[in-house]
Amino acid sequence: MELNENARIDTSQIDDQRSAGGGGGGIGGLPIGGGGLTGIIVTVLVALVGGYFGINNLSGGGGEPQTGDNTSLQQECSQSDAIKQLDCRNALFVNSIQDYWADAFPQNFGDPYKPSKTVYFSNQVRTGCGAADSGTGPFYCPADDRVYIDLTFYRLLADQLGAPGEFAQPYVLAHEYGHHIQDLAGTEAAMRREQERSPGDANKLSVKLELQADCYAGVWAKNATGTDVGGQKIFKSISDQDIQEGLDTASKIGDDTLQQRSGGSVNPAEFTHGTSAQRQQWFRQGYESGSPKNCDTFAAGAVS
Ligand SMILES: [Zn+2]
Repeated sequence: MELNENARIDTSQIDDQRSAGGGGGGIGGLPIGGGGLTGIIVTVLVALVGGYFGINNLSGGGGEPQTGDNTSLQQECSQSDAIKQLDCRNALFVNSIQDYWADAFPQNFGDPYKPSKTVYFSNQVRTGCGAADSGTGPFYCPADDRVYIDLTFYRLLADQLGAPGEFAQPYVLAHEYGHHIQDLAGTEAAMRREQERSPGDANKLSVKLELQADCYAGVWAKNATGTDVGGQKIFKSISDQDIQEGLDTASKIGDDTLQQRSGGSVNPAEFTHGTSAQRQQWFRQGYESGSPKNCDTFAAGAVS
């Protein structure tokens, strides 16, 4: 993966809340309690057993999301070697992903694309879906249409889950934006209704939703030819090795692999994101076809 060092990084697509929740005592201001707390516990448990990259519906949490302060991020990312910085690189990934969907969403779903900001947070964050912390892993909140990530997650992904590849980062973000697409397209709401109708199939339906987000990540990777606000290419290249790193990441975060890693036995009934093999298969299918139309994991027989 080679990023264009001259690409202009649009930090307006990021909401930098890292100073609000991190380190020096900001945590005290975060109300943890009521419905939010319950939601968090459930989500963290899910995350430990295999729910990374979830779509997050912390029930009953609600409320107004916080807003951050992009001043220092904007300064940092306007400097000449900005793409060497993790937060600026990730902003550029977000730019590329949204640049793709701005055209592809109307073409494939018929409606205009609505941009979604990515929130950088440290430790804890208040969202439209309730309060969350870093243990949740990156997630998308349909209630406020935002992607949330504590960038230290990548260290956990590299050191504890064995996915150190650089391309893990855009894969993670493209997966989360896949959930945003599902939200805009109505797929997510339809799946929730289906889950309510047949609660026994709730996990199977969740797997289909997650695998579709993996497929959308692959579709973006194939079409990551977007440009910055000044018309410059964002990626100079994405290589076979990058795609392999995306596949490696997918293989490390499959439900079966995570269950084994946590020392338990593999229990397919508890799968919510799909096996390592399935996650790789759908990322690959998205990449090879390059079209969201080939990501229908809800079609009969598509996911067994
Ligand atoms: Zn997900």
